[in-house]
Amino acid sequence: MAHVHKLYEYDYEKGYIRLKNKKCPRCGSIMAHHLQPVERHHCGRCGYTIFVAKKGK
Ligand SMILES: [Zn+2]
Repeated sequence: MAHVHKLYEYDYEKGYIRLKNKKCPRCGSIMAHHLQPVERHHCGRCGYTIFVAKKGK
């Protein structure tokens, strides 16, 4: 599991995972990956949000 740490930056206290290779389509900033209350990618710079649609549930 250690290999995933190259791509993901965990912050369980704040409840999000930062994907280092996920950039905001609006401003190009790195987006944070939130898991609660719903899974989504959020840009802290411009506020752009991409909701992750889950399948099979
Ligand atoms: Zn942005």
